[in-house]
Amino acid sequence: MRRETKLIHQISGCGETGAISTPIYQTSTFVQDAPGVNRGYDYARSNNPTRAALESLIAELEGGSNGYAFASGLAAVDAVVKLLSAGDHIVAVDDIYGGSYRSFTHIYEKLGIEVSYVDTSDPVNVAEAIRENTKLVWLESPTNPTLKVSDISAICEIAHRRNALVVVDNTFASPILQRPIEFGADIIIHSATKYLAGHSDVIAGLVVTKTPELGEQIKFVQNATGGILGPFDSWLTIRGIETADLRVRKQSESALKIARWLQSQPEVDIVNYPGLVTHPNHEVAKKQQEAFGGVISFSLVDDTQDAAIEFVTKTELFQLAESLGGVKSLLCHPATMTHKSTPREHRLQAGIHESTVRLSVGIEAAEDLIEDLQNTFVSLQKSEPCLEKA
Ligand SMILES: *Cc1c(COP(=O)(O)O)cnc(C)c1O
Repeated sequence: MRRETKLIHQISGCGETGAISTPIYQTSTFVQDAPGVNRGYDYARSNNPTRAALESLIAELEGGSNGYAFASGLAAVDAVVKLLSAGDHIVAVDDIYGGSYRSFTHIYEKLGIEVSYVDTSDPVNVAEAIRENTKLVWLESPTNPTLKVSDISAICEIAHRRNALVVVDNTFASPILQRPIEFGADIIIHSATKYLAGHSDVIAGLVVTKTPELGEQIKFVQNATGGILGPFDSWLTIRGIETADLRVRKQSESALKIARWLQSQPEVDIVNYPGLVTHPNHEVAKKQQEAFGGVISFSLVDDTQDAAIEFVTKTELFQLAESLGGVKSLLCHPATMTHKSTPREHRLQAGIHESTVRLSVGIEAAEDLIEDLQNTFVSLQKSEPCLEKA
């Protein structure tokens, strides 16, 4: 069965009533027939049928053995880091999601877990950073917001030779475009808040493991620490996933058109999009992704925060907000929004310029989105005649 068919038919509704949609089991506990004798469910922190349906769906989509649903992407990150002990070490991608960076530096380092950050788009950097006590290599590919791409299979080979597991935060690509377990990854994380749920209406996180043994360990943390996804949010996430294939392909198609258009604009300096042949990791992206996703970032020739802020407040279809992956197009200014707490030096080093703008392309007509960007450039020229090129 092909993936887009599985998306729809993996989950059945309710056998008893014929309901075609997965029921929402809004219950905290389950009646037992005798002490310890239940019908597969005993207490809803441990397991809930609606959540279980989502968990098996994501495991299937990622090609893993087990899936687990959490209250947010960061709760999923947290559950994975809790596999480690004090004295363990993580090698992480340097432009890691800000929230993951915050929990690594302000929570886990305090508990004795060390983290080294390297540019994982060159696997040699990973090889050099791995130590005796390295337990995890933590990747995101593509990254946020500069869309760097890392060679997942090359890094898995390096990490496994040194007995480290590879975790891939697959939020930006989604399993529609990239399934890291096929390239050797051990654990997959999602902020399902983004492409999987896809409608900017729920916060959710998912973990998928390659093996049942790792699955058992995540399951233990999930039950022991309790950061589970509730039944209604599980249902919303399932409903989102059912249309993920349509949405993500359309978003990728539109994003490629928009990225090419941006490249030809005189106001635009650098365009970061893995689908462009000019992207430094384009070949690797082509090897491991089916398409290039719905996020683009670009900087302006007038590389100032003021120019970018004017731009992001003037678009009409692209709405100014954090987050990405939904049906409505969004844009943001990383230097003053998502990466505000990243020190300026660190930010510039990671390729996030003063004027970098991040677009999350929705499912509107690409032509309308391009018109919106074009109108914004025109209105900026009008409002700042002194900046007009001679
Ligand atoms: C948003 C995001 C997260 C965190 O997910 P939440 O659902 O907001 O907790 C983690 N990783 C990446 C790459 C993200 O974009």
